Amino acid sequence: MTDRPVEPPTVAPPGGFLPGADRSLPPGPGDLALPVTGAKLLTGVDGQLLRVADLPADTDWVPLGTLDGVPAWGADLTTTANDLPGPARAWASLAAEVPEPHATLAGRALAVLTWRRTHRWCGACRAELTDRPGETARQCPDCGLYVPMQLSAAVLVAITRPGPPGHVDELLLVRHATGPTGLWALVAGFVEAGETLEAAVHREVGEEVGLPVDRLAYFGSQPWAISGPGVLLAGFTARAADPHAEPVVDGRELTRAQWFGLDALPAQLPPAYSISRWLIDATVTAGRR
Ligand SMILES: [Zn+2]
Repeated sequence: MTDRPVEPPTVAPPGGFLPGADRSLPPGPGDLALPVTGAKLLTGVDGQLLRVADLPADTDWVPLGTLDGVPAWGADLTTTANDLPGPARAWASLAAEVPEPHATLAGRALAVLTWRRTHRWCGACRAELTDRPGETARQCPDCGLYVPMQLSAAVLVAITRPGPPGHVDELLLVRHATGPTGLWALVAGFVEAGETLEAAVHREVGEEVGLPVDRLAYFGSQPWAISGPGVLLAGFTARAADPHAEPVVDGRELTRAQWFGLDALPAQLPPAYSISRWLIDATVTAGRR
């Protein structure tokens, strides 16, 4: 057993990517272009990001921020069926390939464009919303309703317990009933309104595997573009409060839950670009020291 802390990821500075909503200058032909169609992103044939000049001149551009000082623009081409300039890629396949700031920018493009497509009308009076200059937000011209883009917070937690005498610690991994069902993942769930991140961890662990945990510690966070637009994942580590307690799954959200020795983890783990994997890898590293 180890009492050493799990080291949080070396959080790179924003990596040259800064979110923003500046419309004060029009898009230039060399600016980065991130057109979205449905839940996918268009890239060049080589997988590189497109430029504004690659798209038709009448494209309706939405500011996303800057990457290494170069402005980046998104556009919703969901209803433009023909003449798309490149292949459409899901965020997961893109994030697996491109450097971190590009993956984050691609995730923001999908989040912002999806949010705009689904927040077109005022929810109070049905008037068409207009953009708030300089913000990722819209406003109703009739009743004044302010509609900022909102994030959904979710938590995930790497729970460990001491292994058998003479063995390394064990990590709790679960299999989900939907989504990538073959993957061994971490307990995770959305934060409820009125709940702290920490309370959400305790509740989700209780609901999904029926275990009490303690020594909860914050690990790091990651914007996540797969579970829906605008999801922010917050990762934690924790210890099982009762080292002999076995998990009990509800059978609805989860199909399996199992303790694995840190030296005998299954091969089917979350992808390398996910905070789930960063947490698992950091837990293994801490267990070896
Ligand atoms: Zn209104």
